[in-house]
Amino acid sequence: MPEKKIKIAVDGYSSCGKSTLAKQLAKQLGYIYIDSGAMYRAVTLYALNNNIIGKDFFNIDELIKNLDKIKIHFEKDRLGNTITFLNGKNVESTIRKIRVSSFVSQVSAIAEVRKQMVVLQRQLSENYGVVMDGRDIGTVVFPEAELKFFVTADVDVRTQRRYDELKEKNPDLNFDEVKKNLIQRDKLDKSRKESPLKQADDAILIDNTNLSREEQLNIALELALKKINGS
Ligand code: C5P
Repeated sequence: MPEKKIKIAVDGYSSCGKSTLAKQLAKQLGYIYIDSGAMYRAVTLYALNNNIIGKDFFNIDELIKNLDKIKIHFEKDRLGNTITFLNGKNVESTIRKIRVSSFVSQVSAIAEVRKQMVVLQRQLSENYGVVMDGRDIGTVVFPEAELKFFVTADVDVRTQRRYDELKEKNPDLNFDEVKKNLIQRDKLDKSRKESPLKQADDAILIDNTNLSREEQLNIALELALKKINGS
């Protein structure tokens, strides 16, 4: 296993295969994987469960006041999958639901929320080789990361992937609803004032519209090994 531990940032659009790539890379390198999006999703779930956010209201001040009460941690299950916990409760599948996806970009646009999540992201990464996926990892969380990827794919391809992923557990899921949510989140994530989604100047662009998971992994892994081995 390679000796030098580096930080690898994987940013990009919604449902573009970032987390698949980040997880595979981490596994191959023996690094930890951190899903920063899960943290914003967990904060959103807290807000939904505590009547802070709803169909036509969002009490931002109340959310900011409650931030200290929101404890997020990760554990591994028997298969090695990362499970997200919110205040001690396994919320891994709930935070992936469209109800959470519909509000998460409003929550992640709040400066105070971001500040708190970035502290946690940096704490969890201390002293580790890490692969972290998100929107601002290469630009804000780890601007010094040795390797940065910016992942994208055609929007219909991304929608199909997310649809296939969610359909099994949500039989009523509608393709157009999934597509609308992706487009809306990308728009909000790109246009927000705080840490908007954008490609870092030194990030390597991967458009995986026509790539298999294996092809994508091979491209990224080769670059990672070069960095780690100093060539
Ligand atoms: O990666 P995922 O799609 O689970 O992220 C959910 C949402 O969390 C994104 O749409 C974005 O609003 C927010 N996010 C963010 N910064 C990150 C990761 C996610 O703003 N680093």
